[in-house]
Amino acid sequence: ENGLTIGNARKTFATPEGGVVKALDGVSLQIRDGEFFVMLGPSGCGKTTLLRAIAGLEILDSGEIYLGRDRIDSLPAYSRPVNTVFQSYALFPHLTVADNIAFGLQMERVPKAEIATRVAEMMALVRLDGLGGRLPSQLSGGQQQRVALARALAKRPRVLLLDEPLAALDLKLRRGMQDELRRLQRTTGVTFVFVTHDQEEALSLGDRIAVFSNGIPVQVGTAEEIYERPVNRFVADFIGESNFLTVPLNDEGEFRVADGPWLELPEPVFAGPDGTLTVAVRPERLVLDGSAPELVRGRLSEVVYMGTDLHVRVALSDGTSLAVRVSPPFEQLSLTPGADVVVGASPSHLRP
Ligand code: ADP
Ligand code: MG
Repeated sequence: ENGLTIGNARKTFATPEGGVVKALDGVSLQIRDGEFFVMLGPSGCGKTTLLRAIAGLEILDSGEIYLGRDRIDSLPAYSRPVNTVFQSYALFPHLTVADNIAFGLQMERVPKAEIATRVAEMMALVRLDGLGGRLPSQLSGGQQQRVALARALAKRPRVLLLDEPLAALDLKLRRGMQDELRRLQRTTGVTFVFVTHDQEEALSLGDRIAVFSNGIPVQVGTAEEIYERPVNRFVADFIGESNFLTVPLNDEGEFRVADGPWLELPEPVFAGPDGTLTVAVRPERLVLDGSAPELVRGRLSEVVYMGTDLHVRVALSDGTSLAVRVSPPFEQLSLTPGADVVVGASPSHLRP
């Protein structure tokens, strides 16, 4: 088996105003067997369209979809070895939990005894033992989501497509279900293709993540690769937080932030036509305790206590400011608005 391959997938929609939207603008992806693959991007970037195309609910204008060696993009939805879980759980309200899970198997005329075994197996897998006789309306949102997962996995698909399945759950429940999903994926070995617009969810779940913008994946990689080495400003901004500093370069190829010292960059770079350069640095990579070389001096304009860290803003002499995250212990630093601070950064954390 060679996973799920998407080759140059294109899809446009006509808008009511008579225009055209390129929902998929030439998507090529290689998703590995048994992988937890996450597609991340802002609303409207084409994630749902791509999932629907894989599921067979949307026909591509052009491009190819292969599962292993088999081309599946012209197969009808029901004969593709994939299954989908949507944000709206789409359970049958008049069927019990057990009958909801059994439904797809009955459609496929799986023998009764086999159905009973698999339903029991699935209920244990998603930890719903003892609730088989309930109706969906008698379950919590999290439990309904588990039923939807059990129903989708009962048919033993090769690929499970999940379209923002946790978006309707509150934060705490969502965290719990994220752990649960990772466990389900590992125990079943089914390839998961999971869509979300939530970067934290993507980073915590994905073996690999594809970051989408305007109908194309702009970067594919592990959470660490995407976080530490974003390929462009869109990714650097969308994943986590970044300070973008427009800085002047001198003849030695050094730069300075506001009135800070001239510093060398970790790798040679070229200034734009106006002699400046944009450098990105994560707030949590900046320090105020002198543990890294001085970048610039400034004055605290904002200090927000967030429990696990402080979110601090430092105003600079040139009128710009920097976001800084300070981790505990905070006590030895006097971090009150108006205090003068030295912002430090290790050169390796500055990305041109
Ligand atoms: P996402 O899931 O990333 O939010 P979608 O795949 O739903 O994005 O949509 C991508 C783009 O295609 C959006 O601009 C959306 O408005 C448009 N679109 C999606 N489905 C249709 C449709 N059936 N008719 C017209 N436009 C659509
Ligand atoms: Mg969507």
